[in-house]
Amino acid sequence: MKFGKYECAAVELGDFLLDGGAMFGVVPKMLWEKKIPADNKNLIPMKARSLLIRGNGRNILVDAGPGNKLSEKMKKIYGIDDRSIYAGAGLLKYGLTINDITDVIITHLHFDHAGGSTSIREKKTVPAFPYAKYYIQKTQFEAAVNPGPGEAASFTGDDFMPLKESGVLNLLDGPCELFSGIEILVTDGHTKGQQHPLVKGEEASLFFCADLIPTSAHIPLSWRMAYDNHPLTIINEKSEILSRAFKENWILFFEHDPVTAAAYIKQDGKNIVIGKTVTL
Ligand SMILES: [Zn+2]
Repeated sequence: MKFGKYECAAVELGDFLLDGGAMFGVVPKMLWEKKIPADNKNLIPMKARSLLIRGNGRNILVDAGPGNKLSEKMKKIYGIDDRSIYAGAGLLKYGLTINDITDVIITHLHFDHAGGSTSIREKKTVPAFPYAKYYIQKTQFEAAVNPGPGEAASFTGDDFMPLKESGVLNLLDGPCELFSGIEILVTDGHTKGQQHPLVKGEEASLFFCADLIPTSAHIPLSWRMAYDNHPLTIINEKSEILSRAFKENWILFFEHDPVTAAAYIKQDGKNIVIGKTVTL
């Protein structure tokens, strides 16, 4: 689907499982399991779905999925086997390889978003997209290098330090227009300095929610993850972003939704709810 000068497409980079209780925080299971049913271990299916933005001489990837460097312990916890992660295959569907990616925008450095930024080649951890520049918010990079005790388990230095050492990492300082027609918005509720590309079109724009609204079930303000570092901040940020999204006719892109990649939103009384789904 085209937004301004860019063709945007969903790229699936893998499947994994997360604890349903952790994904829905204070929401009772009786409610959330109607949206995403859990298995007998209370795990729910998740996608690692990236966004490919092509145009203006660039092939931009937003987030890189969990990647293929995970330890056996991590794979077991997150229900990942060798068939679950298919990064190269996701790009091949569009006739591209890792060599064609010019830019990688990483929303934040939690492993399921940044793991695929780097890969192991000849026993060395190197940038997975050899010709790409990478973009991360400075405050997020600092949070990942010196994490608080609640967030330390979500970051792995190998996902981002090799980017810095190779000189391909660009640290952004707050919201900006990164490329013509692609705005970067920043939120702090899930983790400090999470960034969200907004690809602007004339009739509709595409907003990459990342972990601000990880699935279409997370649109109601109080439906948030136990993983959010600053719960009250995220409620305010979500409220502001959803009202702007409604006014400006944004399509929301859901990185982790097991089924729905993107959708419009609509007003239902006082609430904003999911509208027509969109195939990208
Ligand atoms: Zn996250």
